[in-house]
This record gives sequence, C-alpha cells and structure tokens, in this order.
Amino acid sequence: MKSAEIVSVGEELLAGMIADTNAQFLGGILPELGILHRRRQTVGDDLPAIVSALNLALSRSDVVFTIGGLGPTEDDLTRLAIAEVMGVGLETDAAAIERLQALFRSRKIAWTERQARQAQKPTGAFFVENPNGTAPGLICPVRGKFIIALPGPRGEFQPMINGPVREFLSENIVGGAIASKVLRTCGIGEGLLERELGDLIDSKNPTIAPYAGLGEVKLRIVATAESQQSADALLLQFETLVRDKVGGHIYGEGSCELESAVLALLQSRDQTLGVCESMTGGGLAQRLTATPGASAAFVGGLVAYQLSTKTTLAGITDTSAPVSAEMAIKLAEAAREKLGSTYGVGITGNAGPTSDVGDKPVGLVYVAMSGPDGTTVEEHQFRGIREDIRRRATQVALLMLWRSVK
Ligand code: ATP
Ligand code: MG
Repeated sequence: MKSAEIVSVGEELLAGMIADTNAQFLGGILPELGILHRRRQTVGDDLPAIVSALNLALSRSDVVFTIGGLGPTEDDLTRLAIAEVMGVGLETDAAAIERLQALFRSRKIAWTERQARQAQKPTGAFFVENPNGTAPGLICPVRGKFIIALPGPRGEFQPMINGPVREFLSENIVGGAIASKVLRTCGIGEGLLERELGDLIDSKNPTIAPYAGLGEVKLRIVATAESQQSADALLLQFETLVRDKVGGHIYGEGSCELESAVLALLQSRDQTLGVCESMTGGGLAQRLTATPGASAAFVGGLVAYQLSTKTTLAGITDTSAPVSAEMAIKLAEAAREKLGSTYGVGITGNAGPTSDVGDKPVGLVYVAMSGPDGTTVEEHQFRGIREDIRRRATQVALLMLWRSVK
C-alpha cells in the first residue's frame, strides 16, 4: 500500500493562531483513496526547515503533500523549497502569467511583478488548477515519488483536493483498499471497554482503537485488503465480533451523536421529551435542537437559572437546596408537567470555577429523569473546566434517557 505524509507550512500554525483544518480534511480523504496516512509535520516559514521536512517525508512516504506557502509574498517559500529538494530551478510559465494577468484585469486589481511568482514552478513540475484563487497547486515528480503542493486558504484547498488531486491520485497512486468505521459507545470507560473487547483489541488487520471523548468512547475499526470488496467483508466480519462483545454500549455509528440516537428512539416510540435546566443553561436543549428533525420528539425546555426563576418558571416553591438531588427531581418533574412530555429531564449543579453555591464543590452535578416509570436521579462529581462540566452534565442526561428508552 502506498503511504502519504503531510507537511503543513506556516508560522501561524506553529503559533497556534489557526488550527490545521486542511490537514484534518485531507486526513479524512486519504483512507478513502486507499492511501496509508502515517505521519504529519508542521514547519514555519523557513526555507531550510521546509527543505529538511520534505527530505525526511520523501525518505519514508510515497506521496508528500505540502499545505500553504504558495502565495506571492516573501514568506511564501514552499515553491522554492520543493525546487531545492528536486535539485532544479524555478521557471516562469508563460501561459500561467497570462492567466494570472487576465484574472487581475477582470478583478480590476493592479498587477505587481511579485504576483509573477505564482506562475513559477520547479522544472519538471505540473500545475494543478485553482479555480478559487490565484496560486495554482503543483504536482512534482521527485525520486520516483510525488510532492503535491496546495495553497492554504480552505476555500481553495478543499475543491482542489476533491477535484484534480483526487483524480491524479486515483490514476497514478495505485493504493490497496481501506474500509473503516467508527462505532460510538457511551456509559462505559475506555479501560473497561478494552477489557470487554478482549483479544480483539490486539488484532492487526482489522485494527480497532478506542478514542475517549467527554462521556463517550469512539471505536475506530480499519480493515485493509487488496480490493474494496475484501476490505468491506473483513470489516463487517470483525464488526460482528465487536458487537457480540460490547454491542450493549453502542448507540450509533460514524457521525451519529448521542442526542440524535435518543431523539430517534423517542420518535420510534411516539414519545416526547422536555427539559428544565439550571446549570447547563439550555445546553441540553441546544444539543437536542442541533439535530435536524428534533421537533418530532423534543417539546422544548425551560432555563430556570436564578432561584426566583425556579419558582416563576418551574413552579418550585422550596428553593433552599439549589444543588441537590431533590432540586434535580423537581426540575425534571416540572419539565414533564409544564411541557406535557413523556420524559422530563432536570439538571442542576456547580460548574465552577468557584464554589458559589454554598458548600457544594465544583463539578458536583445532579441529573434527574422523570418518565412513565417514575423519577430517577444521579449524582456525579466531575473534574475539569466549566465548559467540560456543563457538557458532561448534558451527556449524563442523554445517557439516562438512552438507557431508559432503548
Ligand atoms: P496565499 O496565496 O493566500 O498566501 P498560501 O498558499 O501562501 O496562500 P498561506 O499564506 O500559508 O497559504 O496561508 C493562507 C491562509 O490560509 C492563512 O492565513 C490561513 O488562514 C489559511 N491556512 C493556511 N494553512 C492552513 C492549514 N493548514 N489549515 C487551514 N487553513 C490554513
Ligand atoms: Mg501566503
């Protein structure tokens, strides 16, 4: 199987000013093309650094992608670095100059000689058309391998990958086939999940790897084979083994979020959900309504934040223990009654960073669920920053619903 490596170029990336979303995007495409993606490098706008990154990448990968540094300014050095690695000079392409000048005329932008740099390419390289910008990409044959250079702006990068680059790769880089799938689990930690998977975790092909998130673990399965059909079959066979062991924790696949799994379950049972949130301030309602078609099962929510609002909105008269199991229960029951839903959820707690609710520690959370079979409440003590604690609280609520409705 052919392998690829990405070299991202730019001081902005190193300084943390922007995230490498282009590499992230490309990382998602390569497996589809049957190309193994094993490594990534990031370097600043520094010629020797780019050159050595490229040499290293070429020493161990069949295709090397560069991202960024193809613009017309002094700090755009990728073209120069590639020429140096190829051991050739840069030549100006007459047709490319004409195209650029015509573009500038049509956009009524003054032409400066500096722009001509974007019509340069290392001798022996080919241009990749860029319909959304001025800098064309480059495909550069070197040492029996390829460097593929693409510009940084996302609106230029993505269409080039999806169009000409994808075409070039499928015609010239004969990969094997990869089939992959993400199974999404909740309500079980990474360690326990690994234990339940037993020997499967050591499998070499397909591989399976757990990725822990906030209150959930994703299991990514990757199968490689000569043909797509064999890879798909291998994956399916393995998935069955995985489901036999941990199927009870799997709520969905791929990009399916827990909230959409819960909503789908509720809808399939003709049941509805209403929420009354204190600590999460509508965060649960936000997650639910981010799912298209949520209105089929999600009735609505109340944000009862201050004590007085717990009384006026939720009709709770005794608010002496705002962070307590009793309060969560009252909120859940208020949601169910006020909103007339099958299930009601109540969330209260202390998200921090300071303990401003009496003696309750930061991260103490109560989530209650009220439904046809009565009301249950859970107490959790979370660690972490405010945002994570609030997110985890909504995750607990969804998990309680999922377990009860499925
Ligand atoms: P330009 O012709 O616009 O100068 P370029 O190929 O020289 O393009 P850069 O100058 O490195 O690219 O970056 C241009 C812009 O593209 C950056 O300001 C940044 O917003 C975005 N960008 C660059 N690299 C990446 C990346 N790896 N992921 C996401 N965005 C990026
Ligand atoms: Mg630039």
